Amino acid sequence: ESFKRIKEVEKEVQAFLLIDEESARNKAKQIDEEIKQSEELGILAGLPAGVKDNIVTEGVTTTCASKILANYQPIYSATVYKKILAEQSIMVGKTNMDEFAMGSSTEHSAFHPTYNPWQLDHVPGGSSGGSAAAVAAGEVYYALGSDTGGSIRQPASFTGTVGLKPTYGLVSRFGLVAFASSLDQIGPITKNVEDAAYVLQAIAGYDPYDSTSANVQIPNYLSALTGEIKGLKIGVPKEYMGEGIEPKVKEKILAALKVFEGLGATWEEVTLPHTEYAVATYYILAPSEASSNLARYDGVRYGVRADSAENLIEMYKKTRSEGFGSEVKRRIMLGTYALSSGYYDAYYLKAQKARTLIKQDFENVFEKYDLILGPTVPTTAFKIGEKISDPLTMYINDVLTVPVNLAGLPAISIPAGLVDGLPVGLQLIGKHFDESTILKAAYAFE
Ligand code: GLN
Repeated sequence: ESFKRIKEVEKEVQAFLLIDEESARNKAKQIDEEIKQSEELGILAGLPAGVKDNIVTEGVTTTCASKILANYQPIYSATVYKKILAEQSIMVGKTNMDEFAMGSSTEHSAFHPTYNPWQLDHVPGGSSGGSAAAVAAGEVYYALGSDTGGSIRQPASFTGTVGLKPTYGLVSRFGLVAFASSLDQIGPITKNVEDAAYVLQAIAGYDPYDSTSANVQIPNYLSALTGEIKGLKIGVPKEYMGEGIEPKVKEKILAALKVFEGLGATWEEVTLPHTEYAVATYYILAPSEASSNLARYDGVRYGVRADSAENLIEMYKKTRSEGFGSEVKRRIMLGTYALSSGYYDAYYLKAQKARTLIKQDFENVFEKYDLILGPTVPTTAFKIGEKISDPLTMYINDVLTVPVNLAGLPAISIPAGLVDGLPVGLQLIGKHFDESTILKAAYAFE
């Protein structure tokens, strides 16, 4: 099924960096045998999956959509990959992304862009644009993405899919190529909420290989899908519905609120007063962490090494200037600057303080409300090429997704209708480790 669909649409959508039909078919046969022999079925048994190319997969090239890792063959597998295989899922291929997950459109892939299946001259969002497009186009049943500042939810919003960013620490980051370690989380992109619950069930859980992994009891997420949300208290931040939000997007969110009312939930306007600092805070902290995390690509230990260098320093320089794309270089420069002595206090430390205030905003609202609701993105998908030459307008697009990562909270994006033929995403943000309430409400709405 999956490969039939891939043959039909992949030429136009270009969601994948690598497709391995032979391994997938062999794996499928093996799983068939396993199923015949045992009573126990994995919860993802037989399901074809796409895996974002910043998740390491033993023996399968993992590039992060960067030239610097074009030849990188991991010698180990990420915990999440092992977990989906243990549940008898089948990886169809590695999905396209913005280089090292830096971007909101998948145009920063060093290899090729991905096209939005809804309208091919539009971006699928990013950085997990390949994962989202593959699901939206029906090439895979589900995909794994990563979300540092919106990279699961924003592409889900742009492609009419469901994207869940779990609480920081719920899903192991072991084997996820680090972008900004204090913000990164892996999560599912699926066609519906029930599938998201299944995939989350498979990948959540404590992992001793990840020092930030949380040792918490994992609930049964599927049992949250009751359709019953009477009495649920929803807060709608006025900052998420103000200027900057496209009026037609806002209309869809207001219509969704009517649906929630009809289901017996109540909602009130609330405030997250430090929202206006979130983008600035994120774009100091994420590049700072990235500049440190990307220091390891020096041509010695991983990936591609520039040839014809006369000495070691020149080899470093050549490898990095040839290997990294312009957005990655911009982030390394921003981060190095923010962390340098004399500027650290003014930028990095200031941003850490702002992060605390943003987190407290959420805590205040969650004292009285079960969920926070708003749009995922202020707009629908933009056109290919529209924002690529202006990094700031690209960054501003993340205004409603980055606060969630700064606070370490879980959030989902679910489809809330179409505007001019393009999907709008509705975002539900929950309390720490309360994915169940998010899934419950999303499922009832759907
Ligand atoms: N668009 C954001 C950025 O460029 C978020 C990326 C992400 O979540 N990986 O940093």
